[in-house]
Amino acid sequence: MILEVRHRSGQRLTVEVDLAKPPTLVGAPPAPGPEVCLNWDQAVDDQGFLRRCPVCGCRDLYFRKDFYRLTGLAVVLLAAILAMLLFGGPWLYLVVAVLGVIMVVDFAIWRWGSGRLVCYQCGSGFSKLPVPRDHPRWDAATAARYKHE
Ligand SMILES: [Zn+2]
Repeated sequence: MILEVRHRSGQRLTVEVDLAKPPTLVGAPPAPGPEVCLNWDQAVDDQGFLRRCPVCGCRDLYFRKDFYRLTGLAVVLLAAILAMLLFGGPWLYLVVAVLGVIMVVDFAIWRWGSGRLVCYQCGSGFSKLPVPRDHPRWDAATAARYKHE
């Protein structure tokens, strides 16, 4: 599992963690960055799913797809430009083909793209770990509850 911690100091710490032998302290010298204590008590359930944030103990984690916004914006802009250049000409079938390819790429990213769990309270991220298919996605009401705490 890859753990990305947002430390109170504003620094980020990225550490690879072996769930079979989880560490209780990461980022300790000589590693650069902040030192973070991890509490794995009840963090992982019997099926190996992360149910609690080992950084802050929060039980509310949401699943988020990893998608680079700049890549998505570039793909949409490229498709829009190609569609505008080809529209109105004799190559209308190419416009439909370009939009179809973009739709297939978008579906592939949505379906098979990697994802991560994110803690509502501390913002730490957990990737490259098993996540149940029905794990909750981001919820505005839950996020608002932690924003005011
Ligand atoms: Zn947390």
